[in-house]
This record gives sequence, C-alpha cells and structure tokens, in this order.
Amino acid sequence: MSTTTNSTHDLDVLIVGGGIAGLSLAAELAGRCRVALVEAEPTLAYHTSSRSAQQLIPSFGPAPVQELTRRTLARLVAEGGYVADAGGPRLAWPSRFMLVGTPEDVDCESHGGMQALSPGQARALVPQLRPGAFEAAALDTESVRTDAPALLAHHESRARAAGAMISLGSPVHTAQRVGGGWLVGAGAEGFHATNVVNAAGAWADDVAVLFGVERLGLQPYRRTAALVSLAEPLDPDTPMVAAADGTWYFRPDEAGALVSPSEAEPSRAEDASPRPGDVERTLERIARVVDLPVTGIVRAWTGLRTSCADGLPVVGFDPEAPGFFWLAGQGGYGFQTSSALAEDAAGQLLAGPEALRSGSYPVSKTDRALDPHRLSVRSQRIGG
Ligand SMILES: Cc1cc2nc3c(=O)[nH]c(=O)nc-3n(C[C@H](O)[C@H](O)[C@H](O)COP(=O)(O)OP(=O)(O)OC[C@H]3O[C@@H](n4cnc5c(N)ncnc54)[C@H](O)[C@@H]3O)c2cc1C
Repeated sequence: MSTTTNSTHDLDVLIVGGGIAGLSLAAELAGRCRVALVEAEPTLAYHTSSRSAQQLIPSFGPAPVQELTRRTLARLVAEGGYVADAGGPRLAWPSRFMLVGTPEDVDCESHGGMQALSPGQARALVPQLRPGAFEAAALDTESVRTDAPALLAHHESRARAAGAMISLGSPVHTAQRVGGGWLVGAGAEGFHATNVVNAAGAWADDVAVLFGVERLGLQPYRRTAALVSLAEPLDPDTPMVAAADGTWYFRPDEAGALVSPSEAEPSRAEDASPRPGDVERTLERIARVVDLPVTGIVRAWTGLRTSCADGLPVVGFDPEAPGFFWLAGQGGYGFQTSSALAEDAAGQLLAGPEALRSGSYPVSKTDRALDPHRLSVRSQRIGG
C-alpha cells in the first residue's frame, strides 16, 4: 500500500467506501458541496454491493426499514425506473415476493400489508410449488427488482457529472483530526475534509478505529447465492419465493434462477467466497418444496451483510468524534433503503451537527431510530 501523497484536496465531505451506500450519497451531495469518495479496491462495488439478490421488498424488515424502502422505490421510479421503453437500462421494475411455509412462520414473517394466499392461490402464481409441501403463503405485490450494476452506474455518473471526485485503489491508511477537520491519507491521495462518512460496509468498525473512533459492534454475516441453469425457463413474472423459516429463497433470473440458503453466519470482514457443498445443499432444501428443473450451477458467490445489534442501519454523526458520520449496518437492506438513506444522510451533513443539536434542522422519527447515539455501551456511558 502506498503512503505517498501527491496533493491535499480540500473538501466538505470525504466518503470512505464505494458500494451502494457511498455511491448513492456521493450522487446526492455532488454539486451541493465539495465531495470526494475513496474506494480501497480498484473497482467500485467489488464487495457486497455486487453480490446481492437485487430485490427491493417493501414488506421486508422492521418499520424504519419499510419506510426507507418505500421512499427509495419512489425515488427510483422518479429517476427513470419502471419504464421499460424509456431508453437505457431500467433501474427498477415490478417483481412480486412470496413467502411459503407453516401458518405460524408465514404469519410471523409477513409484515407491511402482505396479502394472505391459500396454497392453491400460491400454486396458481408459482406452478413449480409442490402440492402439500407448504400450508400457507403470503404475497407482497409492491416488491421490485433492481438492476444493481445499472443503479450503481446511475449514481456514479450523477456524482461525477456534478463534480464529485472518485478515487479507486485508494484505501484509507492514515487519519488525524487537524484544524476543525480530518486529514486523511488514502492510497496516494491526501484530503482535508470537514466531515468524513464511514460507508465501509463490513469494514466500518475497522475504519472507525483508523480514525480513533470507538467501534459500534457492527457484525458482518455471510450470505451465499448462486445462479443456476434450468431445463425450462421460468416465466419472468414468477414471484421471488422465500421459505418463511428463512432456509432458502429463489427468484427467476435471465440465466435461469437465483437461489440462496439465506444463511446469516457471523464472519470477519473479508472477501468471502462459497464453501464446498453450500449450493448443492440449498438446492436439496428447495427441491423439497419447489420442482425446479435445475441443470447446473452457473456461478456462486458469497457476500457479507453487516448489521448493528438491533438490526437497524446506523446513520448520523458519531456522538463523540466531531465530523465523523456513520452510514453503515444496512444488513440485507442496503439496496432497498439506499436512496432514502442517501437523502437523509445528505440532509444531516449539509445541515451540520449544530443545526441537528439545536433542532433547527427537523429530524424525522426514522432518522432518530438510526442515530448512532442509540448503540451500545457508549450510549449508556454518555447517557444518550
Ligand atoms: C447474497 C446477498 C443478497 C442480498 N440481497 C439484497 C437484496 O435483495 N436487497 C437489498 O436491499 N440488499 C441485499 N443485500 C444486502 C446489500 O447487498 C448490502 O446491504 C449492501 O450492498 C451494502 O452496501 P455498502 O455500500 O454498505 O457495502 P459494500 O458494498 O461492501 O461497500 C463498502 C466498500 O467500502 C470499501 N472499504 C472498506 N474499507 C475501506 C478503506 N479503508 N478505505 C476505502 N474503502 C474501504 C470496500 O472495499 C467496499 O467496496 C444482499 C446481500 C447479499 C450478500
């Protein structure tokens, strides 16, 4: 890693991490303040943001996540999603989501206005579901698919067009508090920024330590997925189907089907990869409930979903470190909450901590639920 610094860029906001979180925020801030984004890898979105199932499910997750998802969907539609013939790739299009399982599991997992279905109604929508293999089902008709590469490229081009600097192959290696801001070394670049945003995904706690900021106890969890080929293609309108006991899901894909064991196994921050047998075991589990004519595994991958102890993202200024802003802990909701989180984070960063403290910048109920003050030992010590 190089520590040679070419020049120092003066900024209002330096974003650390070029996944969906960092990129959507860079697009939101560009043109409104001096902003740069640094990404450790030579390409953007190399880690979790290139490994998702690309589904935005309004009924999925706790209430604040559902609210952020609905707002993100509205933003994507306004920015050119949904319209098949608008020219250029679609950002989002309708893709229903179904839960199947025991009545207890389906009842427990179906939030946010999901519609209850009988097994017969479920099989009418997904004829591959085996009769007798499940007793209950529920459907989210508002769910949406996104094209993750197109969405990431959309944010990148908005950010660059409005003047944001994006520096690749630039891991943050040094950081110190200097003159009311942060002096940061990243790759061969140097930055002096009033605010730093920690959007480093699985590495968010490690990045905090680099800045001398206490960890928040963020935990990365492994999740594997695979594309499989099928003897007969699925109707592209087939809903995504998930076991309500959280043991698998599948959805149609251009290559055949995307499948996942839905595992959430704690991991250290790393470039995760599947273990032998992961996909085969998933296919066995799915086969008990769904008759998918799988002919082979096209590609398998593992990503890290990183969560706070209470399962909500953490967004806001650190309570103890001036100018250090958290945008992390999105878990399995990073795409579906991205535009709303970027909007809220940008609002808080542009308003500044003083306006937030004094109440002159109105903070929503959802923003308060995501505030870093709530987390861990520190909040008890601070009494916040
Ligand atoms: C199998 C799977 C399926 C999923 N399905 C969905 C889904 O359907 N819908 C949904 O909403 N979400 C889904 N998710 C979750 C979603 O992918 C994540 O929430 C999201 O990608 C997290 O984005 P991020 O930008 O926070 O993290 P990342 O994409 O990991 O980006 C963080 C970046 O920070 C960089 N970085 C780290 N340290 C440094 C440093 N020191 N200096 C500079 N850069 C640094 C990393 O290199 C990385 O590129 C899924 C995840 C997985 C694994």
